Amino acid sequence: MGFFMKDVPALFGSMVFNDEVMRRTLPQEVYRALKKTMRHGTHLELDVARVVAGAMKDWAVEKGATHFSHWFQPMTGVTAGKHDSFICPRGEGKVIMEFSGTELIRGEPDASSFPSGGLRATFEARGYTVWDTTSYAFVKDGTLYIPTAFCSYSGEALDKKTPLLRSMEAVDRQAARILRLFGGGGAARHVVTTVGAEQEYFLIDRQVYLQRPDLMYTGRTLFGAYPPKGQEMEAHYLGSLKPRVSAYMKELEEELWKLGVYAKTKHNEAAPAQHELAPFFITTNIATDHNQLTMELMKSVAGKHGLVCLLHEKPFAGVNGSGKHINWSLATDTGVNLLEPGGTPAENAQFLLFLVAVIQAVDEYQDLLRLSAASAGNDHRLGANEAPPAIVSMFLGDELTEILEALEAGTDYQNNETHQMEIGVTVLPHFPKDTTDRNRTSPFAFTGNKFEFRMPGSAFSIAGPNIVLNTAVAESLRRFADELEAAEDFTSALAALIRKTFREHKRIIFNGNNYAAEWVTEAGRRGLSNLSATAAALPAYIAPESLALFARHQVLHETEIHSRYEILMEGYCKTIHIEALTMADLVKREILPACFGYQRELAELAERKTARGGFDASPETRWLNTISKLTAELLDKLETLEDALPRAAAETELTARAEAFRAVLGVMSKLRRIADELETRVAKQHWPLPSYAELLYSVV
Ligand code: ADP
Ligand code: MG
Repeated sequence: MGFFMKDVPALFGSMVFNDEVMRRTLPQEVYRALKKTMRHGTHLELDVARVVAGAMKDWAVEKGATHFSHWFQPMTGVTAGKHDSFICPRGEGKVIMEFSGTELIRGEPDASSFPSGGLRATFEARGYTVWDTTSYAFVKDGTLYIPTAFCSYSGEALDKKTPLLRSMEAVDRQAARILRLFGGGGAARHVVTTVGAEQEYFLIDRQVYLQRPDLMYTGRTLFGAYPPKGQEMEAHYLGSLKPRVSAYMKELEEELWKLGVYAKTKHNEAAPAQHELAPFFITTNIATDHNQLTMELMKSVAGKHGLVCLLHEKPFAGVNGSGKHINWSLATDTGVNLLEPGGTPAENAQFLLFLVAVIQAVDEYQDLLRLSAASAGNDHRLGANEAPPAIVSMFLGDELTEILEALEAGTDYQNNETHQMEIGVTVLPHFPKDTTDRNRTSPFAFTGNKFEFRMPGSAFSIAGPNIVLNTAVAESLRRFADELEAAEDFTSALAALIRKTFREHKRIIFNGNNYAAEWVTEAGRRGLSNLSATAAALPAYIAPESLALFARHQVLHETEIHSRYEILMEGYCKTIHIEALTMADLVKREILPACFGYQRELAELAERKTARGGFDASPETRWLNTISKLTAELLDKLETLEDALPRAAAETELTARAEAFRAVLGVMSKLRRIADELETRVAKQHWPLPSYAELLYSVV
């Protein structure tokens, strides 16, 4: 557990079969062959794999591993894998530890229980997992984990990693063409996407959690009156950490560091009991694996501290929800950030080109970005007053916007130092962070040398949003490269292209307050989409433009998209279905009995007072009437819910079913309002559920 700060470098990555370990444990020619596979995705020969597997097993056993697992990311959004032990019978009643090359490269989990959206009928349920050599194996809880991609027998992606890797390749293919146009980008051969995913979460006490079946079954509170003290005082944000929280965060960091996750910052968030962890950025594929590990460890470490970590987007109504900010950029394999305004005119022109490529991508594929952040959980957050609205727009900051506007108009850009703005001639001003990072309301903000996509929810795999973003940007770059490669005069074609792209897509830029009601009207005027809920957002996935985009860049083909669409739609319906059942169950078996019990107490008191004579029984009677009336309303709403639910579930057509469940949600919120009113009136000793105050201030 405890260690001194000077040990961190030794601790970091100590459970990872990383480059240093490979170099140390593998024969040189095997190491070289493996590196080649890792870098260029070439086939890994079986005799190489055999040696790697042996070295990996010896190393893992030394780290306490007894099992190995092909770790994959099915379309559930969480990770999965079965655990096989290394044991192999040898002689009478004896075993040795073995791990073969084939076992390393390929696994065959019985995949029938994972959602496939019809891609793989259960009778041919076998899927297989293939080692993703771009992500390192690691040891956790006595198991050697091998990051893998998960496919069907006919090669269709059954997971989130495969299309993510394909989308990174798509960006690489197109961005490399652009770099070549600018003179080859020096020694750079490849372009990767980089991501730093900030993760928000809540921590509550386990004992209190165990008294909330709604939290246990659905991840969010389905009832709960707003507490006398919520987040109004804004005392929690960046406030000092409670010792118990601090101990939790320390252990979490240690565990993450061991696994090579660059956990960097931790702090208290805006809501009581809300916190955030941000890692240092890394390539998207690894950032995705690491974010999954972070979420898993956040939960498991919490258990050791008598805490529960809530990753739901909106565990508490009326209190800030949790998001996941995806900081995103493009970098060359030589480490140059392509969204960093440069020091020379040529670098600046290149920066502006990549910048307008992202602007075009976000404008053209705003519906896809929107749906990449859509889920039943996140619907409670997007558009509420703490998170971006459901309308996708971009924040560039005044300075950069003015530069682009000047370019578009063909006029000179005058900044404080009166630099003249002309592509290829002048040096762009540097954008200090404080001038670019002020707008916290924007769903997609430029923050000096990267973009920050703020719509995705805290429980999401970051794969989905990154797949969309990467592919949309690859498409912009493809068209730019086509045009510029054919141009006679590169410099003037470049200037014209930047100007034209900005003119055609500047409607997506909005530097104002995204929470303001006027923005909704203004966005409508600009023709931007406002897909307020998941049921409305998801159909864009199977629209012709979407199918064409993903097919062109070989990220997802039509059947793969349809399967994902179905899984997302069904996930939305199932989530609400479970919530509604939980709600009805709690009303019938806990809340109504509590209301009746309290009423009996009041009625008995009133009766006794009257029977004795000489007492005024009107307070009990009046209060009894209030409770009784509310209870009757609650019962009405329960009946409405129990009537609507089976009808929604019986809808066979997917969009109709999603819409029906969205309507169920409306009934649920009406029911909740009445229950919450009752909570504020029924005696505490009768109320069966811990209050919001008890939940939010449970960690002391
Ligand atoms: P804040 O958002 O609180 O201002 P920072 O801007 O320092 O914090 O960083 C937020 C996140 O963005 C961190 O995870 C950081 O590693 C990440 N980040 C920084 N540069 C890049 C980049 N070029 N590509 C992707 N992510 C980046
Ligand atoms: Mg941020």
